[in-house]
Amino acid sequence: MNDSPTITCCPLCGGEKREGKTTITVEPAYGQFVIRDVPAKVCELCGADWIDDAVADKIERLVEDARIKQSQMEVINLKAS
Ligand SMILES: [Zn+2]
Repeated sequence: MNDSPTITCCPLCGGEKREGKTTITVEPAYGQFVIRDVPAKVCELCGADWIDDAVADKIERLVEDARIKQSQMEVINLKAS
């Protein structure tokens, strides 16, 4: 756990982080999954993104589901799931 208060500056470039959406690509050994519409904090300047642990857990579960289905490539919309 990170106990620091909400950081509003990007540690990479000092730009401002804003609530936004990002696309995460997960590439396990067995395939490639693209997760779209992921809520994240996105740096206005360099575009770096940060996702919450809860969101990361959700993505992990989606990838696990895809693995069980033996799907090798999938584009998943996080909002719709
Ligand atoms: Zn930045």
